[in-house]
Amino acid sequence: MRVSFYGTRGSCPAPGKNTVKYGGNTACVLVESDDGRKLILDAGTGIRALGDEFINNNDDIFLLITHNHYDHIQGFPFFKPIYQQARNINIYSSVTEPDEPRAIVEQMRGSYSPIFAKMLTANIQFKFPNWSQQPININGFSVLSKPINHPNGGRSFLISCDHKTIAYVSDNELNAPNAKVSKAQWQSFVENVDLLIHDGQYLDADLPLKLGWGHSRISECLNLAIDSKVKNLAIYSHDPERTDVELEQLQGEIDKVNCTVNAFLSKEGQSIQL
Ligand SMILES: [Zn+2]
Repeated sequence: MRVSFYGTRGSCPAPGKNTVKYGGNTACVLVESDDGRKLILDAGTGIRALGDEFINNNDDIFLLITHNHYDHIQGFPFFKPIYQQARNINIYSSVTEPDEPRAIVEQMRGSYSPIFAKMLTANIQFKFPNWSQQPININGFSVLSKPINHPNGGRSFLISCDHKTIAYVSDNELNAPNAKVSKAQWQSFVENVDLLIHDGQYLDADLPLKLGWGHSRISECLNLAIDSKVKNLAIYSHDPERTDVELEQLQGEIDKVNCTVNAFLSKEGQSIQL
């Protein structure tokens, strides 16, 4: 299984000379099986570049959306396959509060967009799996899901294929007030995974101001990874204000932690073979 990062920034795109190394695009990850099947996770601005790769084949597209916050759907109108005639695109939306399962397409309306949803020529199908304890098969990947602790709700995904498992837990506040999912439940959900991709937008200094805003501190997601014995931790959803220099300094501090987890701040353009 291969995992590639097309956008690692949270909340808002952050292009510029201070974010060249870690990237400025928002949430988008590509998961590929050894035999070439693909899943796309989230449609932040990172999905625009990914679309350039998908227009060269006719494979059905499978897109899982964690939630409808703009940094997770903003790239969709610029994903070129949606303009391909009869291209099959399957979208797995997450239940949000309020429930707006088609928001990713419906954002293309009114004064928000020059191109309206009804003008899209792809065959876009929405899927609403009944998430339970049983995994769902999506394009040959085995997928489980758990709600995230985040304003307006959303979902995380546990994805298995080729005897490897990754957990995609973006925009999750591990110690949220009124958390839907406890630390112990997260620990059992991600235990022993080969790769945990987890939100680490905040630093300890961001609290208590940002308590309840829906993101975790780097220290919290590192502790979760250690306690859950994950092999690799990709810290994700970087604060748009965080510069390359600051992120490199943080990586230096992470490297000093004595643990068995390979923990790193994820970079746009980075690819990991599991
Ligand atoms: Zn969010």
